[in-house]
Amino acid sequence: MNIFEFINHFPNEESCEIFLKTYRDNTGIYCKTCKCISKHYWFSGRKFFECSKCRRRSSLKSGTVMESSNLSLHTWFTAFLLMSATKKGFSCLEFQRQLGLKRYETAFNLMHKIRSVMGKRDDLYFLKGIVEYDEAYVRKATQHEVQKRLKRGKGSQNHAIVAVASESTPLEDPDSGIKSRHCGFFKMRVLQDVTKESVEQFVAETVTPKSVLFTDKNSAYYNLERLVEEHVKVKSSPDSTSGDLNWVHVAISNLKKNLLGIYHMVSEKYLQNYLNEFVYKLNRRYFGEKLFNRLIVTSIYPYVQHSE
Ligand SMILES: [Zn+2]
Repeated sequence: MNIFEFINHFPNEESCEIFLKTYRDNTGIYCKTCKCISKHYWFSGRKFFECSKCRRRSSLKSGTVMESSNLSLHTWFTAFLLMSATKKGFSCLEFQRQLGLKRYETAFNLMHKIRSVMGKRDDLYFLKGIVEYDEAYVRKATQHEVQKRLKRGKGSQNHAIVAVASESTPLEDPDSGIKSRHCGFFKMRVLQDVTKESVEQFVAETVTPKSVLFTDKNSAYYNLERLVEEHVKVKSSPDSTSGDLNWVHVAISNLKKNLLGIYHMVSEKYLQNYLNEFVYKLNRRYFGEKLFNRLIVTSIYPYVQHSE
C-alpha cells in the first residue's frame, strides 16, 4: 500500500476500527480465560467483544501489539505505514516528528513494540537447504569513560556479537555454466559469547536438521554436525564477500551500514529489536508496497495472543 492508498483506506479512526474488527472476526477471537478461540459477541456501543462462554470482555486491541496502548488505532496504523515505508528505516526522532507525537519515549516504545512483533513473526520460520553461518561484531554504545578503558578491535567489549545465518541456494546458468548462489531467508540474533553452547543453541533454534551448514573453521563450531545433515567447514576471512559464506558477509556488511547510517550506535539492550526490523525487511525484500499489509497482519495476528 502506498501513501495515497493508505489515505484512502484509513482516513480516520473509524476506518481503522472497521478493518481491525473485520480482521479479528475472520481469524476468530481468543479468550484469555477459556484459553481458546471461542464465539464472541460484539458490543458496538462500547466497542468490545464478549466471550459467549465466560463473558470475559476483550477490546479491539486486546491480544495484539496495540494492547494496553493509549494511542489511537489511526496512530498505530500510520506507524505501521512508516515502519514499512523505507528499506532503511526511520530514526526515532524522525518517527516522532512524522507522527506528531509529543514525547520521544512514546515514539521509542512504539517502534520497539513493532520491532518485537517483527521478530516474533520471523521466529516462526526455520532456515532450510544450504545455510551459511558466521558472526558479526557490531559496535555498541557504551558510556564514554568506560569505553576508553575497554580493549580495541574485534571481540572486544566495545562490540556486541551477532549470530548471522542465511539460506543460500546454488544456481548454475544453463548456457554459460557459471555457478552462483541465491539467498533466501536470513536470521540474526545477539549472542552473549561465541562458545559451542551459544552457537549450537542458535543453530538448533533456527536451522532445520535436514540442512547443509557452511561455516568457517572456528573451534566453537566443531559439534554442529550433530544438528544438521552435513556440516562443511570452509576457509574464510571475515571480510570476504565471495565464496561459500558470501551471503552472510553481504548481510553483515549491510547491517553495519544500516546501524551506522540511522542509529549511529545502538545499545546492546535494544540491539535485538533493531536486528528484528532489519531482518524482517530483508526477508521481505521483494514485497514492495505489500509490506505494509504484511506488517498489519503481523501486528494483530493471533500468535501474539497465544504467546501470553
Ligand atoms: Zn471465555
